[in-house]
Order: sequence, then structure tokens, then C-alpha cells
Amino acid sequence: MFFPDARLTKRWPARRADVVAVLRGGGRLVCAVRRDGRCDVRLRRAEACLSPRAEEYETCRALFLLLRETTGLCPPWGMLTGVRPVRFVRELRLARAREHPGEPPEALGEYLREKYFVSEEKYRLAARTADNQAAALACGTPRSYSLYISIPFCPSRCSYCSFVSRTTAQSGRLIEPYLEALRRELAGISALARRNRLRLETIYIGGGTPTAISAGQLRTLMQTVRDSFDVPAVREYTVEAGRPDCTTPEKLAVLKEYGATRVSINPQTLSDEVLAAIGRRHTARDVLDCFAEARRQGHGNINMDLIAGLPKDTPEGFLRTLRGVLALGPENITVHTLTLKRASNLVIERASPEYGDAARMLSSCALLGESGYEPYYLYRQKGTLQNLENTGYTKPGFAGLYNIFIMEEVHTILSAGAGGSTKLVGPDGAIRRIFNYKYPSEYIERFDTVQARKQGVDEFYAKYDDLDPQAAR
Ligand code: SF4
Repeated sequence: MFFPDARLTKRWPARRADVVAVLRGGGRLVCAVRRDGRCDVRLRRAEACLSPRAEEYETCRALFLLLRETTGLCPPWGMLTGVRPVRFVRELRLARAREHPGEPPEALGEYLREKYFVSEEKYRLAARTADNQAAALACGTPRSYSLYISIPFCPSRCSYCSFVSRTTAQSGRLIEPYLEALRRELAGISALARRNRLRLETIYIGGGTPTAISAGQLRTLMQTVRDSFDVPAVREYTVEAGRPDCTTPEKLAVLKEYGATRVSINPQTLSDEVLAAIGRRHTARDVLDCFAEARRQGHGNINMDLIAGLPKDTPEGFLRTLRGVLALGPENITVHTLTLKRASNLVIERASPEYGDAARMLSSCALLGESGYEPYYLYRQKGTLQNLENTGYTKPGFAGLYNIFIMEEVHTILSAGAGGSTKLVGPDGAIRRIFNYKYPSEYIERFDTVQARKQGVDEFYAKYDDLDPQAAR
């Protein structure tokens, strides 16, 4: 959080090295920072007889306070490091309603500020998001599920990307065998869902960039989905058409014809200079044209992704992007904060150590509220600049259900394709994961193992056999 490049070690550091150290034992807790030759040390009596959880909290709090003081940094999410702060707030609300009936809502914000140093602004964002997703969360059943389909190909590689996606130029020969394996996996998932009486709520074709494959291949894929699942009955069918450099009018027409109800066209930024710096081979004009074409073809629910903190971007530039996107009036705007992942070119090449002030950029998202958008899902990732968040905003009535379901782990996600991670969620909250191979070539070559692993779905649901037998349709 304070030193993103630092490594964690249990070894004693070299003399004069910069170090953050925590020692606990003999009834004492010692936190120390040595930085550029200057040492700051805090020593205190460690509370005896604490539970491991309370001991961890006490240690983290002492270290957090020392680091805040020595670095001058004040992370807006305070000590909270988890990926799902909205769920944390929701669970705390329930617990406090039981323990302190009649307590005013602001008391939870005060509690989070005092215990975890969460800023008022972030607490309000999490609380508002929890309110806005309550209706979507209430309508799941123990046997509802979503389907995720991965297309791990892209027209070029963005510098911040750590995903396994392959460029179509380098790995185009894999696309046909990949789609054939995917067709078999989807047929298997369809049979699994029927056997286990699961009800499909949403479909999400993501990647990579699904529109990186040809219009004919996209048509075949969506026909397979139509043949295998009850598409007209699903509540949401999203396809990522993320990159305008491969999303042609013909492909947008295929998405419409085969029942996609939500598409995602992702500028990330509307600055051509920033787009070039992150390896996207398209301009802001291409994004605007792609959006206009999607609207012309009748796509009435469009999401646009933005990233705060990109190299060469500035708070003023981010605000211009935000205004440009708002002028288009998409139904959803998702604002990510740049995450530095080890497998990304940005980190490998250290192409640009200069990242914009992500916190200032995010503060301009107040404009979204003023324009009628509400936060409806939110998550955090390790390695995100300034430990900030990613937030999906929506116009009333257009919240992306799949995003809520996956982040809040309220129902099963059955995943197909390379890098796919199936997450089984039982009615009792039990969770089991089944992973597909990461890379397209592995997925194709070891497809029998992919199929065999999916038997875990039958095993998982066998435990709940007598539950909700009417759920299937
Ligand atoms: S479009 Fe997405 S998946 Fe493809 S390279 Fe860029 S960030 Fe990665």
C-alpha cells in the first residue's frame, strides 16, 4: 500500500537497506521504518491473550499508523485491503443492525473511520453501491447461474494488460481450433446445467476482445450459444466489443442479431497521445465512430470502460475524457484505476514510471453523479495505484447484473474457454473453484482434462440435490 515495489521477506535486511519491519514477541510489538538512513521506531506493549484475528488487527493498525506518519500518505480506503469493500459494508450493516438496533446509518461510517481509517468519501461510495445493488441481489435463487465465455485474442497488446490474451497476428492459427474446443465445452456446460437443474440468468462473452475474431467466427460462436442455451430467457447478455480497431459494423450487427442485450465499447481514454502510450492502435475518433455505429444498429445498452492513472494522462485530461464519454450518454460507465501487474509490459519494461494522479482523477467522478449515474458495483485489486478502486456507474435501470453477481459471489459462474474460472456458489455460501488452462494452446491440447474437471460441478451440486427442485426451466 505504501511501497508498491517492496518485496516481502522473513530474512534480516542488508545493512543500511530501506526496510519496514514488524517484530512481535516477548510481550512487545515493534514497528520500524528505515528509509534513506532515517529510522522511525514505535514500541508498545502487545496485548496478551488476544485472538489471532485481534492480534493481526493490532499489529496492522500499529504499522499502518507509523507508515502514514512517515510517508505522509493517507490511503483513502485506510487499512482495508480486501477486494470487496461493498460486501464488507453490507455484512457490517447486518451485524450492527442485530447488535445495535435503531443505530443511525452514519454510525457505520464513523465506525469504519475509527477502526480502519476509511475516508468519508469512500464509505459513502461503498454504502451507495450496496444500496444500488440490493434489488439485483435479492432476486437470485439457489440454483441460478451465469455463463462466462472467454475469447483470449486481441488485435494488439495494451501495455497495462496482464491477461493471457494473444494477438490475432501472432496466434491467428489458434482461433479455429480454439472455437471448436469452445463449442464442445459449451455443449458440455449446457448438459451439466440441465442435469443439475440450474437456471441461466446472464451470459457474458469477454476476453480478450471477442470482436477480434472474424464476423463469421463470431456468428458461429453465438449460434452455438443459441443452440445450447435458452437465450431469450436470460436477463442479460453482454458481449465485450472492447476495441474499436476490430469492431466492424458487420460484427455489431451479428451481436444484435444473436440477442446480445449489452455491449461494451471501451475507450479507456479519449486522448490519442495516451492511447498511443498504452499500445492501443486506434484513436479517440475511432471510439466515437464505433459508438455511433452501435447506436445506429439499435444497441440500447452500452458500457464504456475508462482507466484513471494511465501513463501520460493528467487529471485535466481524464476530466476531458469523462466529459467526452458523458456527451455520448452510454448506459454504463466503468471507471477503473490502473493496476500494475507483473505480467504487463508496463511493469516488465518499466515503459513509463510516470503515472497520473489517480486519486485526483477519480475525484472528478462526482460529475457522474451530477449527470444521473449511480455506482452499482465496485471492487479492488492488488497493485492498484494508491490502493484505489474500480467502480461501475449506471443510468437508472441499466445496472450490469453479471458484474454484480460475480463480484458479490451470489451465484455460480460457469466459465468456458482459456483462463476461465468456474466459481460454484452453494446456497449455504460454500464456494468451490474449477480452473481451465490459462493459455489458448494448452486449452486446446489438453481439452479432455478441461472436460474431466467440470465433473466437479456434478459433485458440488449433489450435496444440494433435494433443494429447490422447481428452479430449473
Ligand atoms: S484489449 Fe483488454 S485483454 Fe486485450 S490486450 Fe488490451 S487490456 Fe488486454
